[in-house]
Amino acid sequence: MGCVCIADLPLLSAARDQPGRREHADFRLLFQRTQSHFFLFFYSTVIADSKRYERFWVLLLTLYRNLIGDFTNARTRVDPPPNLMLKIIAATIISTIVILLAILLIRFNRKRLHIVRCGKSAADEQLEAIYTQIERLSTEPPSCAVLARTNRRSASDDDWTIPVLSYVEPWARQVIIADPGSDVTFRLSSSTASEPILRGQVYRTLPVPRHLTKSGKARNQFSPSKYIAANPQLLAALAAVCPAYPTDLLSYLLMAGADTFEFDPMFQARVGGSPSWVQDAEFPVCDECKKRMSLILQLPGELLPGKKLPEGTFFFFGCAQHPNNTKTVAQFA
Ligand SMILES: [Zn+2]
Repeated sequence: MGCVCIADLPLLSAARDQPGRREHADFRLLFQRTQSHFFLFFYSTVIADSKRYERFWVLLLTLYRNLIGDFTNARTRVDPPPNLMLKIIAATIISTIVILLAILLIRFNRKRLHIVRCGKSAADEQLEAIYTQIERLSTEPPSCAVLARTNRRSASDDDWTIPVLSYVEPWARQVIIADPGSDVTFRLSSSTASEPILRGQVYRTLPVPRHLTKSGKARNQFSPSKYIAANPQLLAALAAVCPAYPTDLLSYLLMAGADTFEFDPMFQARVGGSPSWVQDAEFPVCDECKKRMSLILQLPGELLPGKKLPEGTFFFFGCAQHPNNTKTVAQFA
C-alpha cells in the first residue's frame, strides 16, 4: 500500500465527478446528512464490494474535505438512489441488533461462568454454612427436599442412588434407582445409602423451608430470593463464596439440573413435595384405587445415569395407599 499524501487528493477528487463515481457522491451526501462516522466505517467495511480498497480512499477524502470545511459542493449534489439508501439503513439496523444481542449474550455467559466457577471452588464448610442458614428458615416440619450441589464425588462416576427421606412416607428408608433406556423408569429398592449420588456427584439433601400461611395451611417455599430476604446471615454466607453475585449463586446451588443462575424450579431435583411441571399438570392415578398419586421424585434429565442423557424433566409418583404402585411421567419443554 503506497503512501497517500495531500498531493494525491485532487486526483481522487477529479475521479469523483466521472460517471462511475456516482455512488461515492451518493454516499458523500448521506455522510453529509448523518455526519456519522459509523456510516463511514460501516460502508467501507461491510457494504463495499470488490471496490472496497478504492472506495476506502474516496471515503477518507470525503472525511478530509469535511474536516477542512469544503464538503458541500452544489455541482456534485445528486439524489442518492433509493436502493443504496435502503441497503445501508437495513444493514445498519440489522448489524446494530446483532451487535447488541452479541454483547448481551457475552455478558450473560461471562456472569454465568463466574457463578459456576465460584460454586465449584467453594469449600464443603462454606456450602454447609449456606445450607444450614436455609434450614433455619423453616417454621414447620419439612415435607420435601431439594438436592443441593456439593463439590464432593463418590468412588465411581457410575454411582447413582437417591435415598427417600424419612418424611416422605410411606417410601422412607428406601432408595430410588433409575433404569435408563428408551423409556426412563424409576423404581424403589431397599438400601442403607444415606447420601444422594447422581453420576458420581454427591448432593446434599436440603429440606425445603415450610411455613404456615394465613389460612393456617403449611406451604413449602421454593424461592431462593425469599430465603435471602428472610435471613441476612444467608446473604453473608453466599457472599463469602461469590461476592459479586451472591443471590444468583443460591439459584445455581439449588438447581442441580442446569448450570445457570436464572432460577427455574423445573431444573430442581426434588424428593417428595409437589412437582414443578414443564407443561400442564399430569398427575397419574393409581391403577387400584384410582386416586391421584404423590410425588416421590422430580429429576431433570441431565442428572439421569447412562451415556445418552434425555432432555426434559422426569417425575416419579407413587400411591400412598398402595406403595408398590409407582409410575414415571416425562415432560419436555
Ligand atoms: Zn392406590
